[in-house]
Amino acid sequence: MTTAMPRHLISIDDLDRSRIERILDRAESFAEVQGREIKKVPALRGRTVVNLFYESSTRTSSSFELAAKRLSADVVNVRSIGSAVDKGESLKDTVQTLSAYDPAAIVIRSPEVGAAQLVAGWTEAAVINAGDGKHEHPTQALLDVFTLRRKLGSLEQANIWIVGDVMHSRVARSDILAFKRMGASVTVCGPPTLIPRGIEALGCEATATLARLHEADVVYVLRMQQERMRESFVPSLREYSERYQISAAQLRPGQLLMHPGPVNRGVELSADAIDSPVALIGAQVKAGVAVRMAVLYELLVGAPLLAAVA
Ligand code: ASP
Repeated sequence: MTTAMPRHLISIDDLDRSRIERILDRAESFAEVQGREIKKVPALRGRTVVNLFYESSTRTSSSFELAAKRLSADVVNVRSIGSAVDKGESLKDTVQTLSAYDPAAIVIRSPEVGAAQLVAGWTEAAVINAGDGKHEHPTQALLDVFTLRRKLGSLEQANIWIVGDVMHSRVARSDILAFKRMGASVTVCGPPTLIPRGIEALGCEATATLARLHEADVVYVLRMQQERMRESFVPSLREYSERYQISAAQLRPGQLLMHPGPVNRGVELSADAIDSPVALIGAQVKAGVAVRMAVLYELLVGAPLLAAVA
């Protein structure tokens, strides 16, 4: 027996292992639908999904839009640029305005930590956190676990290294929680200035050198998130790259390479690593649609597994 789904998805902490597995199993059934000529199912017909993006996004916004459309929902996309947010409307007023359309779900991305939690207090809709500042990005973590589960069968005992700017990464936080929950061991690696103090409390190890990188089954590389850096955390990007850039030559056979995108080619990853056969970056993007369909479905419908693809 799995426990019921939470009403909102704000953090990976909202999901125990059985709920994560349920979402991943559901995503498998939607991935199968994505292979069909007609990629749509009627599950959310007549319901409305609002995508509210206050920060740049390519993958997350497009995949949430496609996911909602492929579930037959009516979709409203609001970006802060070009909306009344430009005219000074507050997040609360914007959410209350959009709630007048009676949406079933609001997907929110914001540069502010805690924004999704606040939105959940202002609307009747289910709220999905699509990234709140450097705090969390739970659907990214779910699609990463989905991608790895497909490749490895299970994350149990997998040794996963997360390399780079952990300090400013909501992906790192959500991934550490999700990978640990699925039985993997996690090591974070980067310059000490970019590793948050006390990160070990999340159950991971921390190191400043790539010396033991060969031990990893999975090398998960993060972008240098300069938009969130208010001071200088590394002497220069060139020096960062010299010490921490992952190239194809550093990867041993059998290791898997991941990155949430967008990649800064030549900074955290060399071109030959991005284009190498062990890179799962394209598979991660592809998984985004099926996994976000599964999250929408589980939060809004949550019926027994077979009903989804009928
Ligand atoms: N796309 C991811 C995010 O929104 C990772 C990144 O931007 O580096 O957090």
